[in-house]
Amino acid sequence: MEEGGVAVAVTSDPTATTTIPEPAVEPAPAPAHEPMTLPVIPGEHPNEAPRLTPVEVVPGQALYKQILPGVMQVPLDLVLAASRKSSLWPMTFGLACCAIEMIATYMAHYDLDRFGIVPWPSPRQSDVMIVAGTVTKKMAPAVKLLYEQMPNPKWVISMGACATNGGPYTRYDRVLQGVDKIIPVDVYVPGCPPRPEALIDSFIALQELIMEERGNTGR
Ligand code: SF4
Repeated sequence: MEEGGVAVAVTSDPTATTTIPEPAVEPAPAPAHEPMTLPVIPGEHPNEAPRLTPVEVVPGQALYKQILPGVMQVPLDLVLAASRKSSLWPMTFGLACCAIEMIATYMAHYDLDRFGIVPWPSPRQSDVMIVAGTVTKKMAPAVKLLYEQMPNPKWVISMGACATNGGPYTRYDRVLQGVDKIIPVDVYVPGCPPRPEALIDSFIALQELIMEERGNTGR
């Protein structure tokens, strides 16, 4: 037997050998050529002609409006304010009976989600605090701590008479006479308790406030 497996001994004579021819190897097919792409000639595609025609620049007009018609140019603070007001995340916590109305506002009948308002069970990602109910002096430090745990920018809605000025518990020694004694308030909602429509109205007022103060930085 030869090296490489090309010859094998098949007779009784140890000195004789028979050679088996190797099978013919067919040559690999030549690769198919890609069809050539011809350049676009404006005359052959009339719909493309306006886009491919050089623009004549008119002096006195903004260049980007001439080159890219339909493109809007808006200030960045406007985009940021619009994004903020359309994605308010109020923290979910309530203090007394006003919280029942707040919960009703989140439900399907009033559907706060259509404003981009989504309740969030943590102060770490919330940007709105709804103080819904009576703020006792025992609870006040917890309310202040939750407010300080919220990242900036953040806003506060005082919901109901109790949170605004003590409500029925005016001059009651153990009730804080307004949550604005410990944290800043942006919108006050009157009522005892306020209806869900009033809370929705306060959110719309807060959205207008955010758009008005969009130029302010560092809030
Ligand atoms: S304002 Fe009225 S409804 Fe709201 S927490 Fe006070 S007592 Fe309750």
